[in-house]
Amino acid sequence: MENVKAKVIIITGASSGIGEATARLLAKNGAKVVLAARRVERLQVIANEIKQEGGDAIYIATDVTSAGSMQELAQFALTHYGRIDVLVNNAGVMLNTHLNELNVQDWDQMIDVNIKGVLYGIAAVLPTMRAQKAGHVINLSSVAGHHVSPSSAVYSATKFAVRAISEGLRQEESPASNIRTTIISPGLTDTDLIPTEISNPEIKALVEQLKGMAISPYSIARAIAYAVNEPADAAVNEMIIRPTLLP
Ligand code: NDP
Repeated sequence: MENVKAKVIIITGASSGIGEATARLLAKNGAKVVLAARRVERLQVIANEIKQEGGDAIYIATDVTSAGSMQELAQFALTHYGRIDVLVNNAGVMLNTHLNELNVQDWDQMIDVNIKGVLYGIAAVLPTMRAQKAGHVINLSSVAGHHVSPSSAVYSATKFAVRAISEGLRQEESPASNIRTTIISPGLTDTDLIPTEISNPEIKALVEQLKGMAISPYSIARAIAYAVNEPADAAVNEMIIRPTLLP
């Protein structure tokens, strides 16, 4: 992974699941990783383990729903490493319920983390990447960003939005500023995303049924690493990674 080496890569939601796997894999391949999430004690453990294995990692408590916190994250990366090569907008929440349950707070949270978090991430790094005349923004969408199913309307809406924002960024910034964009759309992946306490029995039964078929977060991390490692003149704009046996 020659083109991953020495790149400065910010990863949001690096305290578990896909973000953690991505941080570990990229660091193993020589990237300088900047870990961001709210659970700072988990970030500390992960960063220490990366360093013990000879990698380069720093971490900072970050709430992606705060534009100010995202600005601090970008500044932290710049202060330590002097540039920002890649932002992985990975932090996300999935709080699936049927619309008629009217869980308005959950809708707000998904919109705040999954959409506004991605936008605040772009706002935090874009001036630096434009000045560098190089950069790469990788946004986590989902197969739910390609089709809607019962109970996923709001989550799906946020992940459709991620794809729209990414495509807009590509059109505006790719030729103008040499900034690459990548949309990563995972299918069912074995992480903490699916809440263990699901009140709706119908949704709970479906989740239990599917759980055993989930793929490893490293399958998604490898897709991200592939996009990062491609030579600068090739932009991997979108990838879907699903469990083989799921329709
Ligand atoms: P996890 O629950 O394991 O990880 C989610 C991460 O998001 C955590 O590190 C969490 O950190 C972080 N996060 C949540 N809210 C905030 C916040 N306000 N500020 C900062 N960080 C936050 O799930 P996954 O690894 O599965 O999820 C990663 C991405 O992949 C998400 O965008 C998800 O939608 C997407 N995805 C996952 C799929 C799956 O099947 N697992 C399928 C399709 C897409 P902390 O709580 O410490 O802040």
